[in-house]
Amino acid sequence: MSLCNCDKCGRLFLAKWESRCTSCSQLVLKDTHKVKDFVREHPRATLIEIYNMTGVPLQTIKELMRA
Ligand SMILES: [Zn+2]
Repeated sequence: MSLCNCDKCGRLFLAKWESRCTSCSQLVLKDTHKVKDFVREHPRATLIEIYNMTGVPLQTIKELMRA
């Protein structure tokens, strides 16, 4: 464990392996569910459509689509 700056908000936090603090991780998790639910219902949606409909940051969507 070591002190790291959160990737997202820049706050210092104690990291095991993650690059985001707890509150940002939870936010990302919420966004992840939003995107996954939307894509399940709209399998042919484009990045921009997902972004417009979910309000999740493009960067987050891109990361999810790569996974
Ligand atoms: Zn953070």
